[in-house]
Amino acid sequence: MKIDIVSVFPEYFDVMNLSLLGKAQEKGLVEVKAHNLRDWTHDVHHSVDDTPVGGGAGMVMKPEVWAECLDQLLGLEARDLQAGEVGGAIHSSRESRQAKGLTNAAPRLASRSADPSEAADHENPDPQSDQGPILIFPNPSAQLFTQKDATELSHSSHLLFGCGRYEGYDARIPDYYRAQGVQVREYSIGDYVLNGGEVAVSVMLEAITRLIPGFVGNPDSIVTESYTGEEPLLEYSQYTRPTSWRGLEVPAILTSGDHAKVDRYRRDEALERTASIRPDLVQALDCKRLDKKDKAK
Ligand code: SAM
Repeated sequence: MKIDIVSVFPEYFDVMNLSLLGKAQEKGLVEVKAHNLRDWTHDVHHSVDDTPVGGGAGMVMKPEVWAECLDQLLGLEARDLQAGEVGGAIHSSRESRQAKGLTNAAPRLASRSADPSEAADHENPDPQSDQGPILIFPNPSAQLFTQKDATELSHSSHLLFGCGRYEGYDARIPDYYRAQGVQVREYSIGDYVLNGGEVAVSVMLEAITRLIPGFVGNPDSIVTESYTGEEPLLEYSQYTRPTSWRGLEVPAILTSGDHAKVDRYRRDEALERTASIRPDLVQALDCKRLDKKDKAK
């Protein structure tokens, strides 16, 4: 997987050479490159921001600088969109979202078509069939990034992340690239506001790359985790030796050697924990997947 990250603080991503992600790069599973957005500026101050149109506090990241950078990294020619292209993309944000019914709509890059009918046809592209680079912007006002998104994106061959700063980036940037046929995603990593997109990109990158086959030593260890698989529950509690520690005992059933009972105990604990902390996950479960003993509880 090729990963490009654009940021005004590319040094932030030096840590990507550490730990499992560093090893994955050595093994050739992933190739991470951080770019400095200011390399695409032309003024002496290397400015990437300007005041908000319509007034208000703070600064907004300029579309021209981002576009020069993204055009180059995506191998696209600059062009002016025509009025009405892709659900009013040039008018951005609200009108565009309303026209498309969602924010992460993504036409196919392979065709590089700006045909509006194509855009509507590809709101849920199949991640298994690689459709070219996916451009991802962290944004606190976007939809929540989940394990499902991480799983889907782990099948991609090229991800390009754009880190926002200040009050964020000009809303026309994602709209423009959608209209150019690029798959664009905007994700929030949680209901809070960070100073910049660097931490959010690091979070998403770690969640995505650990799902790439060969990334973690034991592939079984990522199969039964929280939020994962056909039944995305919270995981059961984990224990290691010693079984008795500072007056606390590991649940006896886990040392019984009875695998069926251990499985039952863990499933009950996962269901109880999920019902208590994340009832929404239990409600979203397909009832057909619950067995009789689950229902009796
Ligand atoms: N004015 C924006 C708002 O109120 O929604 C906040 C901008 S924030 C200070 C600057 C940048 O940090 C954003 O453009 C985004 O890239 C990143 N960011 C901040 N919080 C984030 C979150 N919860 N999830 C994803 N990205 C976030």
